[in-house]
Amino acid sequence: MTVADVFETLDYGPAPESAALAQAWLAERGAKFGLFIGGAWVEPAESGWFDSTNPATSQKLAAIAQATAPDVDAAVAAARRAQPAWAKLGGPGRARHLYALARLVQKHSRLLAVLETLDNGKPIRETRDIDIPLVARHFYHHAGWAQLFETQFAGQEPHGVVGQIVPWNFPLLMLSWKIAPALAAGNTVILKPAEFTSLTALLFAELCQEAGLPPGVVNIVTGDGATGALMVDHGDIDKLAFTGSTEVGRIIRRATAGSGKALTLELGGKSPFMVFDDADLDSAIEGVVDAIWFNQGQVCCAGSRLLIQESVAETFLDKLRARMETLRVGDPLDKSVDIGAIVAPIQLQRIEQLVAQGVEEGAELWQPSWAKPAEGCFYPPTLFTNVQPAATIAREEIFGPVLVSMTFRTPDEAVALANNTPYGLAASLWSETLSLALDVAPKLKCGVVWINSTNLFDAACGFGGYRESGFGREGGREGMAAYVRPKWRRKLPAYADIPKPAESAKPAPSGGIDRTAKLYIGGKQARPDSGTSRPVVSAKGARLAQVGDGNRKDIRNAVEAARKAESWSRATAHLRAQVLYYLAENLDARHAEFATRLRAMTGARAAAASKEVEAAIDRLFSAAAWADKFDGAVHSAPMRNVTLAMNEPLGIIGIACPSEAPLLGFVSLVAPAIAMGNRVVAIPSERYPLSATDLYQVLDTSDVPAGVVNIVTGERDALARVLAEHDQVDALWYVGPAEGCAMVERASVGNMKQTWTNDGKAWDWFDPTQSEGAVVLGHATQVKNIWVPYGE
Ligand code: NAD
Repeated sequence: MTVADVFETLDYGPAPESAALAQAWLAERGAKFGLFIGGAWVEPAESGWFDSTNPATSQKLAAIAQATAPDVDAAVAAARRAQPAWAKLGGPGRARHLYALARLVQKHSRLLAVLETLDNGKPIRETRDIDIPLVARHFYHHAGWAQLFETQFAGQEPHGVVGQIVPWNFPLLMLSWKIAPALAAGNTVILKPAEFTSLTALLFAELCQEAGLPPGVVNIVTGDGATGALMVDHGDIDKLAFTGSTEVGRIIRRATAGSGKALTLELGGKSPFMVFDDADLDSAIEGVVDAIWFNQGQVCCAGSRLLIQESVAETFLDKLRARMETLRVGDPLDKSVDIGAIVAPIQLQRIEQLVAQGVEEGAELWQPSWAKPAEGCFYPPTLFTNVQPAATIAREEIFGPVLVSMTFRTPDEAVALANNTPYGLAASLWSETLSLALDVAPKLKCGVVWINSTNLFDAACGFGGYRESGFGREGGREGMAAYVRPKWRRKLPAYADIPKPAESAKPAPSGGIDRTAKLYIGGKQARPDSGTSRPVVSAKGARLAQVGDGNRKDIRNAVEAARKAESWSRATAHLRAQVLYYLAENLDARHAEFATRLRAMTGARAAAASKEVEAAIDRLFSAAAWADKFDGAVHSAPMRNVTLAMNEPLGIIGIACPSEAPLLGFVSLVAPAIAMGNRVVAIPSERYPLSATDLYQVLDTSDVPAGVVNIVTGERDALARVLAEHDQVDALWYVGPAEGCAMVERASVGNMKQTWTNDGKAWDWFDPTQSEGAVVLGHATQVKNIWVPYGE
């Protein structure tokens, strides 16, 4: 080839990165790795090994230990031993270790990048310029949180021993997202890398040794899902953090139900990439490249559903096909390659099978004219048009370089299509009209929105999903919050329901007309579907009244009413505060009546009953006060960008209230939930429901819109189960005995709803640190990060 030829074709020449450094590193270790437990390398107890291979060449890179039960036990024991001293070291002491790790990642960045590319198949351009710099940034950022820990997380403590399980798509980056915040908060960890990609985690273990990290603070156990399951089931792990598929996330949610283990799940996605007709189309084309062909599309938040406004669809798709022709698939170590290898043959088969299904279901397939490399695990960039929203490829996560496209006419239709998925991880939207973009972003049900950008990440900005994409955040303050718990939770007594005495034959001397409290659904009193009621008896067994015996159908009606009250979530915080103040005012006006009712039900003394009403009024004031103050934040990531972290309501929250403190417990949970814009379906105290049913009239007279608060009396656990299983309920709060907590956690896996329980412990409803302010509001909201780049 002559220079003239080169000028003619402007083709790329090969620009391979040398693998020598990484090969030497592997050879020096005999290409065989044990487990990193208690600061030392140990052989697996049962001596099992599996291969890690290079997916671009199918060549074996190393033998990796398969950890079994004795190894996991040893790692947990080492972490347990190390934890008290690590926590006691204090934030500034831990900060120095995290800082050292950040520096070491930078110093070994080339080795880490090459090793990651060999093991995973992702292009060296990405590991070198994205993965590894973000890993270093994560440790720097969290060195900062450790330094500030005592002041910024006052009253909080680490969970203790944390088990962490990560996938193969960003092996070292996911490790850093897990380990950095855990260590900053004073936890010790056992991390399991994915079986396809263990090598950089093992190199990281060496960096921990080099950094002088105390033995046992970080333990790396390798192995497949069976090793992960051993961690999930381990009795001495206090918190689990998992990133991976929704399918395995569900298994973990079920397995940990009732164990008291804290849990965060970062799961799959099917994220929309929305192009409006006023978008800068050429920029948006580059956006698509980064959205779906970054990391071969093996990205949980990949923009895999392209939604284009109809008027520009043809133009856009033509440009896209032209751009796809210029993409280069091949040797991941080549610096001018765009798309590397798929991680493993099994993943390649899954992609091929889903693509075949797409064709079978009638979608139109397009791939560039050039051929992908014949050897190795490669797949070409792929575009589907003519895709129906119900098609398998439009619904299922393909986790490969496959884009499905659909069109829309109006912004409302775009939002409806974007939200037409059980997932809710991310969205990318392209429009030159910022007011349109900022109007659409809050309507998208997902944890991250990128405006005129895509796949941007930073340690300061939280990342995580809504709905079946999981719960919990990584990065930022909210990511740190997932690794701490309030100190007071440690000392709580066990929860006990208040037993119901045998009903005495003699009715209470009310002297009035018999009253049966109905249910309260959609702003109206409603008879229970069952047509039956339940007696409410005093502490001495005298019958006070009857309440409706709610059932599954009543819960469904209540959820439907809550769904229709959606505008409450969009109401201004000022308006919500006004309604809550008004509620407080009206409750105050009936103070004596509510106190009398409490006395009649619970047998409390006059002063105690009055104190509870007063505290409930105070809680309403507090919720009103917080309505417009539990704000988000503006993060400045290290780029020309602002990230708006918004606290959004969860949607519909089911709330099972405690049996004690029948008025205060109810108000302490319901008021902050609605203050943040949620609608609720509440199950009042099963033992003493009348304080809640007496509230109907207060709600009616306080301008609470119909459907915002729905109340269904009846058997708490039966009703809570229905709420937990209901797909349109977004979160479930439950206060009750340990078995009930376990039941709702298990029953919530259908739509992976967030649960918040008392873990079978008794809270003090009169103590504001336990039941007021941020401790509740944090559970009533989820953070959405909206990235807004600026500049020409
Ligand atoms: P996976 O769920 O199969 O595996 C993830 C990890 O879990 C691996 O380490 C695996 O060994 C382990 N595992 C498997 N079965 C287990 C079990 N029963 N108990 C405990 N651990 C078990 O997922 P994957 O195929 O490795 O990764 C791809 C998935 O990860 C995709 O769905 C993707 O969307 C998701 N992901 C999500 C995020 C996020 O932040 N939300 C980030 C990256 C990847």
